[in-house]
Amino acid sequence: MSRPGAFAGATVCLTFDVDAESVYDARERVGLSSVSHGRFGIVRGLPRLLGVLDRLGLPATFYVPGMTARRYPDAIRALVAAGHELGHHGHRHLESLGRPLEQQARELDEGLAALDDVAGVRPAGYRSPSWELTAETLGLLVDAGFAWDSSCMGDDRPYVERHGELEILELPVHWSLDDWPFFGFDAVAGGRIAALGAWLEATRGEIAHAAAERRAVTITMHPEVIGRGYRFAALERLLQELAADDAVRFLAHRQLAAEALAT
Ligand SMILES: [Zn+2]
Repeated sequence: MSRPGAFAGATVCLTFDVDAESVYDARERVGLSSVSHGRFGIVRGLPRLLGVLDRLGLPATFYVPGMTARRYPDAIRALVAAGHELGHHGHRHLESLGRPLEQQARELDEGLAALDDVAGVRPAGYRSPSWELTAETLGLLVDAGFAWDSSCMGDDRPYVERHGELEILELPVHWSLDDWPFFGFDAVAGGRIAALGAWLEATRGEIAHAAAERRAVTITMHPEVIGRGYRFAALERLLQELAADDAVRFLAHRQLAAEALAT
């Protein structure tokens, strides 16, 4: 599974976490401004992203909290209609860590029900809200028959994440390949707004290294973050450049998982 793939270059998986307002639902103190920041991802971010993916003919995986699907059924159905993949990203975007098992189970079940009701999709992949997978949630994923998780970072190639008897295919992520640590900012949590070049340098550099090693790289983005005008313009230029590069191919996570399981 950790051997280089047959493709002589970088396999890029574009993934988008469609958090929208769900991140703010669980907070005790949150104002309309922060909530509207999440909503921007649906109103402006998603249409821009769908447009560029369509223009360049690129596949992507959208990890969607159940509440986002319930609030914005048309937007989520549009992702599916465009041929993109939906993954599970919790229901209320509640972190598993520190929650009783029953709550973790409810978060998983309600997320599944929402994606089924809204889009008729049973997702095969899971991404933990805030990337803090617990042993309990891992057990629930295995029991529910999920094919992969994409929340851990123990390798930079697809690998098997294990805890005791439990194991699942991992399509790994990393904070340096996520737009949130670079640009994420809100009134409560604070954060920083890094220079655009820092994000581009990390993303380009990792893809170049992945090409040299003939491995995959998962890029994580959020429509409300990368969908801002100047950031989106940079993403579009980067994707145009990569789409024209013979040493780069794009796969949805389900395709990467299928290749990893076949080796
Ligand atoms: Zn998220």
